Amino acid sequence: MLKLMRAPAKYVQGKDALFEAYENTKDLGSSFLFVCSRSGYKIAKPKIEKSFENKTVKIMFEVFNGISSTGEIERMRRIVKENKIQVVCAIGGGSAIDTAKATAYYENLPVVVMPTVAATDAPCTGLSVIYNDDGSFCKYIFYPKNPEAVIVDSSIIAAAPVKFLVAGMGDALGTYFEARACLKTNSPSLENGGITKSAMALCKLCYETLFADGYKAKLAVEQGILTPAVENIIEANTYLSGVGADNGGLAVSHSVYNGFTALEECESTMHGDLVAFGTIAQLIIENAPMEEIAEVIEFCISVGLPVTLAQVGVKDVKRVHIAAEKACMPGESIHNMLGDVTPEELYNALLAADTLGKTFL
Ligand SMILES: [Zn+2]
Repeated sequence: MLKLMRAPAKYVQGKDALFEAYENTKDLGSSFLFVCSRSGYKIAKPKIEKSFENKTVKIMFEVFNGISSTGEIERMRRIVKENKIQVVCAIGGGSAIDTAKATAYYENLPVVVMPTVAATDAPCTGLSVIYNDDGSFCKYIFYPKNPEAVIVDSSIIAAAPVKFLVAGMGDALGTYFEARACLKTNSPSLENGGITKSAMALCKLCYETLFADGYKAKLAVEQGILTPAVENIIEANTYLSGVGADNGGLAVSHSVYNGFTALEECESTMHGDLVAFGTIAQLIIENAPMEEIAEVIEFCISVGLPVTLAQVGVKDVKRVHIAAEKACMPGESIHNMLGDVTPEELYNALLAADTLGKTFL
């Protein structure tokens, strides 16, 4: 397997970055469609309009229906064709981003991502999660390239509810440990390549940044303020975690998330919250040193990530069997683990994580 490294062609981040949206995208085309979440439309549109003011470029905004579904992607493709759009931009969270990425891919156009929260790895990766119109999971699309540009307006991220930044830290917490597990078994990355030293360095830096700045950033964003620690965590959640996971691969943490989507009582638990709890379970499966497990649990507690089953929404522990079965289905990234993992082993690890978590609370 050849080693492979992929990333967005351009990454821009900082206070009021959207005021420079035009400067950073003008070479891509002269007609832009902004696929927006409802809140993204309200927050970002004034800045984008200001940036594109008096330029000979056509811009149009479209609020999408909230799910990156096949029907919604079809609708966006019609808008692209009817208006001869040359560049597709996403404004919002994971679903808006996945809708825009898929639209651009099918129409053979460049895509620019302008996230309004730092909650997931979606902005920088070269893949999308697509749903059916009824909201059920449909498929992943793996793209031949990552976005042409990712522009992160830190002022917008810092003003968003803190739960998004915290969930993003949960998603980022898995990155290093999942990549480390893939490296041990020579498993391919999400881009289906061998893991580079560069990817591992990003994953390691992601973890170190969470520890150095996670708690400070959480306190700042609770007050809606932007500090250097917040900037560092935005970069960790968006770039280091996204590019790290893309090129470093996934293991137990993300399979635990997929498994728990089978439990309706966990429906409102955010992706990153489950990834964080799944990371503790992974460390138990690996029988990692107690020092390392304690460090991860204490970090989770400090920023408000879950460390028990109750905190991810589980009421009846027996139902965790259902999640463990789903997490171990063929094709799941949990099978990248050394010696593989059975549903029973995962169930035991989830319960052990829960017990351990309770002793720290
Ligand atoms: Zn994730």
